Parts: sequence; C-alpha cells; structure tokens
Amino acid sequence: MKTDLFINGQWMAGSQGTFPVIDPSTAEPIISVARAGLDDLDHAIGAAHAAWPSWAATSPRQRSEVLRRAFEAMIARREEIAALIHQEMGKSLADATAEVTYAAEFFRWFAEEAVRIDGELRTAPGGTNRILTFRKPVGVALLLTPWNFPAAMATRKIGPALAAGCTVVLKPAEDTPLTALLLADLLAEAGLPEGVLNVLTTDQPAAFVEKALSDSRIRKLSFTGSTRVGQLLLAQAANHVVNCSMELGGNAPFLVLDDADLDAAVEGALVAKMRNHGQACTAANRFLVQESVAEEFTSKLVSAMAALPSAPLVNERALVNLGSKVDFSGGRVLLGGKRTTSPGFHYPPTVVTDVPRDSVLAREEIFGPVAPIITVRDDEDAIAVANATDMGLVGYIYTADLARGLRLAERLEAGMVGLNRGLVSDPAAPFGGVKQSGLGREGGYEGITEYLETTYVATSW
Ligand code: NAD
Repeated sequence: MKTDLFINGQWMAGSQGTFPVIDPSTAEPIISVARAGLDDLDHAIGAAHAAWPSWAATSPRQRSEVLRRAFEAMIARREEIAALIHQEMGKSLADATAEVTYAAEFFRWFAEEAVRIDGELRTAPGGTNRILTFRKPVGVALLLTPWNFPAAMATRKIGPALAAGCTVVLKPAEDTPLTALLLADLLAEAGLPEGVLNVLTTDQPAAFVEKALSDSRIRKLSFTGSTRVGQLLLAQAANHVVNCSMELGGNAPFLVLDDADLDAAVEGALVAKMRNHGQACTAANRFLVQESVAEEFTSKLVSAMAALPSAPLVNERALVNLGSKVDFSGGRVLLGGKRTTSPGFHYPPTVVTDVPRDSVLAREEIFGPVAPIITVRDDEDAIAVANATDMGLVGYIYTADLARGLRLAERLEAGMVGLNRGLVSDPAAPFGGVKQSGLGREGGYEGITEYLETTYVATSW
C-alpha cells in the first residue's frame, strides 16, 4: 500500500510527518500516510511546471495511450482497488466495485477525447479576414477531490487534464488518501512521465490550498466538494485569476407525480437516495410526492428501505450531523432514525414523512441514508418547491407522460435531470450544476474543454 507523497515520479516522505487513515466500519486506524508540508507543495508545483512544456508537446496519441493503459490496469485491478475504497471510505464492496468501473471509464473516455482536440477556421462576417482558432492546455492544474468517490472524483479530473496536456498536482480528501496514491502508482506504471502527475496528501487542507492558489504557476483549479469551501477557494483563486471548475453541493428534488409507475419510482429512489449510503452530491434530498399517491409511494419506499442493510457513514462528525438533522426535522420518522449500536459510524436507512417545507432536511444537503417526504399538490407546486433552493445540481422526475416530464425537466433549475431514472452519472455526459452547485462540466465532450484555452489568429488571404 502506497503511503508516501508522489512528486516528480518519486515516492517520498512528507516533511510534516504522517496522519492516520480511519476505517469507518470499525473506527480503527488502517495505516498512516504522509503529511505534506508547504515545501513539498513547492517541490510538486515546480515538478509539474517543469514537466508541462514537454507533456503539452507530446502527441495526442501518446497521451491517449497512457490513459488507455491506465483504464485497462484499473479494470484488471478492480477488486484490489474496490477493497481499498471499501476500507478507507466505508462504502459496500458492491458500491466500491461499481465505482472502480465508473472511475476507469473516465480514463477510457478521455483517452478517446485526447485525439479529438480541434480548432476552427471561420470567415469574418465582412469577408475581409479569416479567424483561425486552436486549443492549448491551460497549464499546471490543482485538483482537489472529496472523500465520497475516492477513485471517480480523481479520474474525472485527472483524465481530462492529462488528455488536454495539462500537468497536475492532486490533493485528495484527508479521509480517503489511499486510493489516490494507488492511482498515481498505476499511472506511473502506465508510462506517465515524471512530474506530469504529483499526488500530495495532508490533513491540513486550508493552509496547503491557500498556498497553492497564491502560486502563479498554478493556472487551473478543479474542485469537488462543499459549496462553503468552494466559495472560499473562488475568492482565493481571484488573486491570480485562476481558471476554475467547481463541482459543489446538491439538494436534489425527486418528483413523484400522480401518473408515475410507483414501483419504478421506488426502484429509482433507492438508486438516487441509497447509492453510496446517501453520501453523493446527486443523492435525492427531498422526495416531492403528489398527494394522491403519497401514501402508497411512502409505504412502498419504507418496505424497500427496510430491506437494505445499515452501512457506516464516513466519520463521527457526519454521524452526529445527520442524527441532529433527523432529530430536528419536524417530521414523523417511519423507519430508522437512530444510530445503530454496531461499531464504526453506522446509521440505518431512514424514512421521515410529513416533513415541513422549511425543515432542515429540506434546506440542507443530508449526505446520508435519510429520505424525507414532502407532499405537493400539482406540477406548479412541485416545481416551486423543487426550485426553492440555492442549489441546482440534479433533479429527478417520475411520470408516465413523457411530454409532462420534459416540460418539468425544462423548468427545473438543475444542471442534470433524471427522467424516470435514478442515476444520471455517466462519463459520456456533461456532469455539473447551476446556481451554487457549481461552475463548468465534467465528462462528456465538455469535460476536456475545462482544461483547454482558445487562441485565435486573425489573418487574411
Ligand atoms: P469538503 O468541501 O469538506 O472537502 C473537499 C475537499 O476540499 C477535500 O479535498 C478537503 O481536504 C478540501 N478542503 C476542506 N476544507 C478546505 C479549506 N478550508 N481550504 C481548502 N481546501 C479544503 O467536502 P467533502 O466533505 O469532502 O465532500 C462532500 C461535499 O462534496 C458535499 O457537499 C457534496 O455535495 C460535494 N460533492 C460534489 C460533487 C459534484 O460533482 N458536484 C461530487 C461529490 C461531492
């Protein structure tokens, strides 16, 4: 298991000692990893900056083939990587295995995108000159990832950055540093040149990131995490006008309309709510159910949730936060609602009904296995409640009437909509939010453009 810093192609100890990584299912330490100091950061930025011109000058095919080999290695080592994610993050082995496949697909997708970076030739409207555009990598990218998908959040950033020709300093979340270190090892084996990817771990992110963003060699920030930290980083990035992509928090509405297939809606609800034990930015946060089907949907959801096992949350803080949101929700707990006596940070599947529209469960991101149910009168009421939030990552709609669903999808203030589907994540799709859920898109054709800049040449002939 790799536990050192990865800088300029070498594994090395951190200048600030180590910090422990905890197994959420037992609350016991697994191992200690290197704590990077600011001198390590300077070393890593220097290595990434030095490696940038030659990496940017490699052929698209060369960059593509490194990513393709990394994809194949992830699939070949799927069980080992899944076991590590399961251990350091606490998600079930099934969820961890699904994550590895999803994460690897970003390497495959961006291996395919690396060879499709293009420019344009336009004629100016007056016909007197030509406008020639080409795309160049932005430069050294600082990539910051959360703990909830330790592999996928990293590959969703590393893939397009490397495909575009950027070099990288990656800092994974302090709860889950081990998966990122494994990915560094795997990319080095796939033939990535020294300095192109550097991975630094620390449990003191604030000082580390502030220092990185004060360094003018960093030209790109891609952050996935909470809106609160995202806002802080946007302010810090302003100093050097750093190019920013932000994937922030969510508060997804899940609409169940009176004509919906309720069994399909429950099946979708389990995916949208319970994947990763509710710890996903795309997690259904508010079930907005039309009055005439509320009772039947609720009873079906309770039966389905009751059949699921309890799983741990990532840490004690998350457990305490979730418990207090349920205790002060103002609703009626139909299932679960109390932390279990198992070791580690377990919280059971929970359903709360009659949730007031201004409840803490409706206003804040829950990030756990709790499904709050709010009844709505009609489509207008559903849209009004759905959009009454500063977040806008994703929304879900269940209806048998496709036209009705599409009309509502257009009106949802969200970057993504699941229409009769509980899962929107797809490496080939543009993932991202509106309002305070973020800036930019990851995945799809859009993903690589976040790491490219456009230069145009004015000419005439
Ligand atoms: P977080 O904001 O606490 O941490 C995210 C990253 O920021 C980590 O690497 C952490 O070390 C670092 N960080 C923390 N405090 C910092 C500071 N003061 N300065 C600089 N860096 C700091 O978020 P989290 O708890 O790890 O993740 C959960 C959040 O992430 C949720 O809000 C969730 O919705 C969001 N998320 C969003 C997406 C998306 O694609 N939109 C995906 C996954 C998670």
